Amino acid sequence: MSKKRYEIKTSCPQCGCSALSHLSKEEMMERYGDVPNVELECGDCMAKFQAEMKDACPEWDQECRLK
Ligand SMILES: [Zn+2]
Repeated sequence: MSKKRYEIKTSCPQCGCSALSHLSKEEMMERYGDVPNVELECGDCMAKFQAEMKDACPEWDQECRLK
């Protein structure tokens, strides 16, 4: 079986830096579940912010909808 990786793209509203992470399905479930909004912390300025899953990771959002 192939290990699919989901790409999560976020950008901090405070400092504007963007981050990219790749998570497996298991990690996505563990970290975010199938919520429409994800809570994130900027690695640069440590600001906490929310992003919509459909913006952060459209692919994961789609899969959650299909269930
Ligand atoms: Zn930041």
